[in-house]
Amino acid sequence: MGSIINYLGEDLKRRDDIGYTIHKYLQLIGEIKRGGLHSDISVKPTQLGLLVGRKEFHHNLGIIVNAAKKNGVFVWIDMEGNNVVEDTISEYIAATRHGGIGICIQAYLLDSGKQLDRIIKAKGTVRLVKGAYPLSDYTFKSREEITRNYEKLMFYLFRNSKRFTIATHDADLIEKAIGLERKYGNDVTYAMLNGVRNRYLRNIAERGHKTTVYIPFGEKWVDYSYRRLKEAGHASIILKSLFERQGV
Ligand SMILES: Cc1cc2nc3c(=O)[nH]c(=O)nc-3n(C[C@H](O)[C@H](O)[C@H](O)COP(=O)(O)OP(=O)(O)OC[C@H]3O[C@@H](n4cnc5c(N)ncnc54)[C@H](O)[C@@H]3O)c2cc1C
Repeated sequence: MGSIINYLGEDLKRRDDIGYTIHKYLQLIGEIKRGGLHSDISVKPTQLGLLVGRKEFHHNLGIIVNAAKKNGVFVWIDMEGNNVVEDTISEYIAATRHGGIGICIQAYLLDSGKQLDRIIKAKGTVRLVKGAYPLSDYTFKSREEITRNYEKLMFYLFRNSKRFTIATHDADLIEKAIGLERKYGNDVTYAMLNGVRNRYLRNIAERGHKTTVYIPFGEKWVDYSYRRLKEAGHASIILKSLFERQGV
């Protein structure tokens, strides 16, 4: 199993805070290299200055991507709320020609199909999720619609992309993806958030598929945990997994 490590934090506007976040990621890249870990990192645009401006984000992302590249570490860009999606995609497309960088696409967004198409045409690498921010006029409204759109985008990826990540805990979608992987032979990684369904992820790994676990860390863990618990159905799911043997 691989891992994707994220230093928690978002919506930063003060240069000191942004600088400290960059420092933490550079430290993390060094630790991954020193430990010989099979690990990527994942950054949030608004922790690297996107709310200050695109130029600021572009510059800071460049610092991290250069350091990561020198140390053989792959960089993911997390996708945040709707107000920053367009800028995030444009900056990603500008950065992706250098390689070593991937982006998250949220299936709950009404225009996620167009976004995905843009990224695949730019030869980008995608991590497909359902989406974690509040539903709005820009999103599908029901869980069924979101799941249906996820499946549609997943099919698109199997037909149009060599390598991508299926990031969900939804067993129906995962098992469908495993079937498609056998048929099409793409390079697929299955990713889950640490602590949600670790035992199932291990089972997928034991069946011979690539897997990775997303591990956030840092001082801002309370906000992160609260958001995960607020997601429909997840409070009981997480409590259940706490009591499962080896469910950690
Ligand atoms: C690796 C990774 C990276 C992510 N990055 C981002 C990002 O950058 N931006 C963003 O907006 N969102 C991100 N997310 C979060 C994502 O958008 C969803 O909010 C989150 O994954 C929950 O949606 P789901 O796909 O698991 O589906 P859900 O519909 O929430 O859950 C699917 C089903 O899985 C089952 N299930 C889940 N857990 C368990 C369990 N423990 N035991 C039994 N059944 C269970 C339940 O049946 C549930 O109905 C990421 C998620 C992952 C896994």
